[in-house]
Amino acid sequence: MNPHEWLEMARDPRFIPGIYNYCDRWCERCAFTDRCLNYATSVQRGRPFDQNFDEDAELDTEALAEELTEVFQDTIELIRAVAEEEGIELDTEAPEVEAEMARDREAMEHAEEHPLTEAANRYIALVHDWFAMGPRRYRRDRDMLVEAALPAGADPASVLDALEVIRWYQFMISVKIQRALSSREREADDPEFWEEMPKDSDGTAKVALIALDRSIGAWGALLPAFPQRQAATLEILALLSRLRSDLEQEFPNAWAFVRPGFDEVGDR
Ligand code: SF4
Repeated sequence: MNPHEWLEMARDPRFIPGIYNYCDRWCERCAFTDRCLNYATSVQRGRPFDQNFDEDAELDTEALAEELTEVFQDTIELIRAVAEEEGIELDTEAPEVEAEMARDREAMEHAEEHPLTEAANRYIALVHDWFAMGPRRYRRDRDMLVEAALPAGADPASVLDALEVIRWYQFMISVKIQRALSSREREADDPEFWEEMPKDSDGTAKVALIALDRSIGAWGALLPAFPQRQAATLEILALLSRLRSDLEQEFPNAWAFVRPGFDEVGDR
């Protein structure tokens, strides 16, 4: 799809502007697929938008890079298309553009080294150890995993659901935390502009907090279902609880952020 077609589609009022910026990308479980421009365009491209976080264990950094690159590319292409329509000449090779990109990269590097990211990456490793298999093998063997470990009387469907939730958010927590941190650093470059604006850092931190809450709930459900892995499960729960509390402290306004669509049910 070229930027002009994209622009045409974007003008359709049924789409909620920016809803995909603060979702968990789990389109399969999303109630807003018919109101999401990114879902519609990804269907047109033949590539579900929710695949970024559902591949191999190395995808924590790859998913972040891909997410940011896609957002950046889409934005540049859109700006070009709008400029063309308005008859404005753009110089995307200008030194200021280069400087902005370099500053983005610097903020991302700082985010990678932040203790919150380190904790989120430690969580990725603990999940990997708990499952004793990568996401790809998990997708193939998950039913066997449930059947082999399930104590009598436990509900396989709810155990499977908990496993799915954990796998879905395993990498996303780190990815979203890094994006929240790098956005916050960039927002600090222009505090006057951001003073009255909803901040991407808060919205993204909110998505990470929601992912943490759902993961904590899922691990809680697994605790009785896998008694032989109780110690490992408790270690994970302790880490997630700390991470959640540290993230809330770092982004005290995150919960107040209003995500387009998701936090405005009934308004549209
Ligand atoms: S808003 Fe829903 S449909 Fe759109 S990308 Fe996010 S999860 Fe998928």
